[in-house]
Amino acid sequence: MRPVYLDNNATTRVDPRVVSAMTPFFTEQFGNASSMHAFGSEVGAALKRARQQLQTLLGAEFDHEIVYTGSGTEADNTVLLSALETQPGRDEIVTSTVEHPAVLALCQWLQKNRGIKVHYTPVDSRGRLDIEAYRKALGPKTAIASIMWANNETGTIFPVEQLADLAHDAGALFHTDAVQAVGKVPMDLKTSEIDMLSLSGHKLHAPKGIGALYVRRGVRLRPLLRGGHQERGRRASTENVPGIVGLGVAAELALEHMHEEQTRVAALRDRLEKGLLQRIGNAFVTGDAENRLPNTSNIAFEFIEGEGILLLLNKEGIACSSGSACTSGSLEPSHVLRAMKVPYTAAHGAIRFSLSRDNADEDVDQVLAVMPEIVEKLRSLSPFWKSSEKATFAPTYA
Ligand SMILES: *Cc1c(COP(=O)(O)O)cnc(C)c1O
Repeated sequence: MRPVYLDNNATTRVDPRVVSAMTPFFTEQFGNASSMHAFGSEVGAALKRARQQLQTLLGAEFDHEIVYTGSGTEADNTVLLSALETQPGRDEIVTSTVEHPAVLALCQWLQKNRGIKVHYTPVDSRGRLDIEAYRKALGPKTAIASIMWANNETGTIFPVEQLADLAHDAGALFHTDAVQAVGKVPMDLKTSEIDMLSLSGHKLHAPKGIGALYVRRGVRLRPLLRGGHQERGRRASTENVPGIVGLGVAAELALEHMHEEQTRVAALRDRLEKGLLQRIGNAFVTGDAENRLPNTSNIAFEFIEGEGILLLLNKEGIACSSGSACTSGSLEPSHVLRAMKVPYTAAHGAIRFSLSRDNADEDVDQVLAVMPEIVEKLRSLSPFWKSSEKATFAPTYA
């Protein structure tokens, strides 16, 4: 039984070509880029090349619009804290109810400890942003609007260009957490209205612990970390050279595999999704099936617990994730599914399958072979299922 990894929105396997490109920067070319000797200058050239590789993936106009960070979370935190300082007289943030905790937890902290007003724009039952509510939340007090490019749980893609335009109409900055979108959807930031964008290496086959922030030329950035002059004074600390080199190669590979992501990977995802819905009743896709990342499928199986599904799938060597925040010790459905008002009986049984170019047909076959039995077994044990055997989900949720 080969292990089946379908949890690529949580993290990806580092591409072996990325590992090979990184290795020399641990062993021979281990210098500090700031040093005056040869060890340092070799590293400086590698950093330059890596920055250009990432620039190409993003379609950014200048390579110095990229600021490396330690993670996607750091990029998100830097942006919001910076905007509150560089936009005098503006102390409000507009975001959404379905952002990653890297944005949401900071917003909640800012509300509580800094008296910042945060507008959480709602989404509809398919996870689509309420544009009218977003527009109304923007105003002369808005420092920044921050809306993710694509949602990590459902894959729903947001109309970031339109959202950036609306933010600019209100004189506010626009940032997007594109951690799930970079490498999966084409980008051309030089023709875009987006001011700032966050990304993370480990979501695109580069290592954990390296991220980046795109900051459009002319947009001011207050550093989160103060110290040395690295990253043109925008992020102090000695460069994570292997990580930066790895992210550069990962960016080049993402561009090479972009077409495959949109065709072969999307087709695998669609076959998995259709196959499951054909074989299993009382199940439906959550999120916007039309405007969605090519690799993500979030399916709610009614009247059972996602954790049960995960455990039984894990026994079969299949890894994916559920829509509940079981890590917090509770079995509350995720904030994303709650924001979409997915009924509790369904949200509890939501499973996220997230694929990548590493997946093959056999992976989908393996899930299709075991999943119907797993769901049947769990439903046979579920008091909710017994009492509502005939319940076919007739959704107001659609
Ligand atoms: C994973 C993720 C992050 C956090 O990135 P890290 O590099 O793990 O800090 C932020 N936003 C989204 C949408 C993510 O999926």
